[in-house]
Amino acid sequence: MFYILHKRKLIPIDPDRVYAFCPQCGVLHAVDLQAEIADGDCDLLGTLTYCDECGKAIRAAALAATGKED
Ligand SMILES: [Zn+2]
Repeated sequence: MFYILHKRKLIPIDPDRVYAFCPQCGVLHAVDLQAEIADGDCDLLGTLTYCDECGKAIRAAALAATGKED
């Protein structure tokens, strides 16, 4: 288990209460931190997590670029 230190108190990181700002639209959204870690390519400072709407648009654009349909 991991903790953050806030106002001299240790607070456990609750995986159901982790949020990030979408790097594309700026909306604050929930992040499945355990899934990000399980993917194996995650770091706490460099990983970008898109909101659902931007993630869908990015995947659709990637599929369109390859000529495949979702
Ligand atoms: Zn977004």
